[in-house]
Amino acid sequence: MSIWEVFKRLRPFVDPYRSLIIFALLLTLVGALTAQVNPIVLRYTVDTIEKMQLKGWGVSQGASLLALISGILFAKEIINSLIVFGQRFYGEKIRIAISGDLANTAVSRILTYDLGFYSSNLNEKGKLQTRIDRGVEYLTRLVQNFFIDILPLFANSIVALVVMFSANLYVGLVALSILPVYFWVSYKQAGKLSGVRRILKGQREDKSNGMINLIESIQVIKSFVREKYEADKQFNVQRALMDSQLKTRRTNFLFDGIKSFLEQIGVVLIIILTAFLVLDQQMSIGAIMFHILLFNNVSAPIRQLHRIYDEMNDALTYSESFFAVLDAGGAVEKSGNYKPAGIEGDYLLKHVSFTYPNGNKALHDVSMSIRKNQTTALVGLSGAGKSTLINLLTRFYLPDSGMLLLDGKPIVDFDLPYLRENLGMVFQKNHIFKGSIEENIRYGKMDATMEQIQQAARKAYLHDQVMALPLQYRSDAQLLSGGQQQRIAIARLFLKNPPIIFLDEPTASLDAIATEQIKNSLDAIKEGRTVVIISHSLSQIIDSDQIYVMENGRVAEYGTHQSLYELNGVYRRIFEASARSLNLDKMLESLRK
Ligand code: ADP
Repeated sequence: MSIWEVFKRLRPFVDPYRSLIIFALLLTLVGALTAQVNPIVLRYTVDTIEKMQLKGWGVSQGASLLALISGILFAKEIINSLIVFGQRFYGEKIRIAISGDLANTAVSRILTYDLGFYSSNLNEKGKLQTRIDRGVEYLTRLVQNFFIDILPLFANSIVALVVMFSANLYVGLVALSILPVYFWVSYKQAGKLSGVRRILKGQREDKSNGMINLIESIQVIKSFVREKYEADKQFNVQRALMDSQLKTRRTNFLFDGIKSFLEQIGVVLIIILTAFLVLDQQMSIGAIMFHILLFNNVSAPIRQLHRIYDEMNDALTYSESFFAVLDAGGAVEKSGNYKPAGIEGDYLLKHVSFTYPNGNKALHDVSMSIRKNQTTALVGLSGAGKSTLINLLTRFYLPDSGMLLLDGKPIVDFDLPYLRENLGMVFQKNHIFKGSIEENIRYGKMDATMEQIQQAARKAYLHDQVMALPLQYRSDAQLLSGGQQQRIAIARLFLKNPPIIFLDEPTASLDAIATEQIKNSLDAIKEGRTVVIISHSLSQIIDSDQIYVMENGRVAEYGTHQSLYELNGVYRRIFEASARSLNLDKMLESLRK
């Protein structure tokens, strides 16, 4: 992306603040003009004092001059302070506003994207966050640089050059001829530093991440006696960081030195030329100070050039991946507009195949029917495609080919928000938001009354436990045990009350007691609904009305527990392995005693 493209993309974000920007630009212009007051006043002062001296005047005659120039400089300083304040404040205001708009746009945009977008390698949660945060940070810095640094400095520089040229063509030419050399040196400096700052940033992050990892894994480190190994690893990170820091400093000192040197050469050339013109009677002696101060105004922005250049490069790098996030239009979830009066929950799949965006072919030619008000279990080894199937049934993904009907209608035709309102899901680990138990249950129905929330918690066998907590429903939900969090997810579902429910290993991460309790909650919620359950728990599988056995993305077997057991195939193998892993014989022995 070129800088112009970036500005073009930024335009819609900048446009709403157009009047503010014009105001900031006006301030910039006034600021550039007032910056030239000092040289002019100084020239006037020197020339007037010189004339006074020639006339043999003393302090008493010069008092009015001193009063005049003090007044002018004082007034100029006040105006200048106001202008600088205005420039900074309004520049910052523009920056903050644009930064907010960019971030909001990114957030509302990614919320419309499908799961394929999120499962892409580029968008793993840390990376996506970095892409958005850095993008916003550097783009707004670009805007800020432009309005607070570049424009005022260059306006100042250009006005000073114009004044120099109008004072004398040759003086103007000398000042102008130094500029390309300066530019070149700054360009070289930026080139040397390019990337180093980014590397530095990465190294700083590595260092702090390293520390966090160290603390998190302290028990493992100690148990394997790897203290020295870890210390060495940290030391290497630290050393790399120190090397980069030193390299940056060295480059900066070197180039800053070269630039000071060049600037001094410019000053000397200006002094010599002006002295010559003064001696040649073409100018008054005040012109020497006048030109030196003007030259200072000309060269000031260039001292910052390498930094601005470098930051612009960063902005280019990060804005590219930021705008790519906004541009992932293909990832926007497509919704149909079919909204029946109610959803029954009859699914029919015919020859459905599916490939993940990364090319993983997860389902092959799957045909099945899921009947309303029945419980259908999906059984199979890990990676067989069970969760993928649920992802299709819940329309998080669309099949590559084949037919996927819900109540006889293609699932793509449904209005998406309406469809999702009618689906409920409980996973192995459910997301508990930061906040109270009440807020977390309320997620199922935002306008639920406290009464309804408690009712839902009761049905999920959670109410009594919540009431035993000191803060009851106001307790922090994230501090609850796994089993209790699972029940929050189930309570949410009771509140949402959807006709179709998907359970993806809902008890896999729970202990035996919690599993038994959750089973009660689940049995309660299954009533009168279409339920699809993935489970390794035999009791839940045996209870279901029909079972599909998946193997390598295909339906391998289908039937009830009894018929599949008699079939003596994949199901029986899995079933017997589960039973053996439970050590059923010994258990039965104990239970019989
Ligand atoms: P199961 O639920 O039966 O354990 P999954 O449906 O999770 O199996 O996985 C089926 C296959 O799809 C596996 O090979 C898995 O690696 C792959 N897979 C699952 N999720 C994704 C994803 N988001 N992107 C790419 N491949 C995936």
